[in-house]
Amino acid sequence: MPELPEVETTRAGLAPHVLGRTIRSVVLRRPDLRWPIAGEVSTVLPGQRVEAIRRRAKYLLLDTGAGSALLHLGMSGSLRVLDPDVPVRTHDHVDMTLDSGQILRFNDPRRFGCLLWQAPGDTHDLLRDLGPEPLDDVFDGDHLFFASRGRRAPVKTFLMDQRIVVGVGNIYAAEALFAAGISPLRDAGRISRERYARLAAEVKRILAYAINRGGTTLRDFISPDGAPGYFEQELSAYGRGGLPCPACGTPLRQALVGQRATVWCPRCQR
Ligand SMILES: [Zn+2]
Repeated sequence: MPELPEVETTRAGLAPHVLGRTIRSVVLRRPDLRWPIAGEVSTVLPGQRVEAIRRRAKYLLLDTGAGSALLHLGMSGSLRVLDPDVPVRTHDHVDMTLDSGQILRFNDPRRFGCLLWQAPGDTHDLLRDLGPEPLDDVFDGDHLFFASRGRRAPVKTFLMDQRIVVGVGNIYAAEALFAAGISPLRDAGRISRERYARLAAEVKRILAYAINRGGTTLRDFISPDGAPGYFEQELSAYGRGGLPCPACGTPLRQALVGQRATVWCPRCQR
């Protein structure tokens, strides 16, 4: 599943091809993805110039003077910029033809993605209650500390709550908690300010590292035959239940926390 670093890398990879370009036409090969595709995508978007391509949480926004196309890659989606003669493949649901002659093509086998519309000056309902971006300065240990007081949810569930901070999915929550030495089971409200400072720093470090590595695989997002280009992960905890802890060798434990598979070291994480 595309996580925040993949979405950010997609944004950065698309920007040079899409920014300042006018969308000449839009082809929809089906009327819906996870939800019906917004009517404005075919009625308003053609003829508009892309003024910015932004990311908010795991959403991408193509901003034009008439409004913004709001995209989510869902579980399996990918966006690529292709030459016009590249044949359409199964699950290529949407094409946007640019005035460069290239095509921005949205492929999504499982169709959990979406393509919606945000009117100028408006904030789409899906973006309204989101917490801060993890790489912004407002996200820090104090933000986590004050937001967590009185909360009895496990810290991992708390960290994955999009109203607290966006874009920390199951993989990055497990890895950041491992790096910070915090048990995912611990009550969010019972973690000190100092430990939250460490946790916020690890979230930033791990996400920034993944985004940086993504920069080296940018070609995958624009080459016609490239795989979608999700990153190979270098993981310490996620998906390693029963294997030795990379720090101390103790077998890593695995359990469901908030209905998500969770792995941690019972010795290193308290
Ligand atoms: Zn350990």
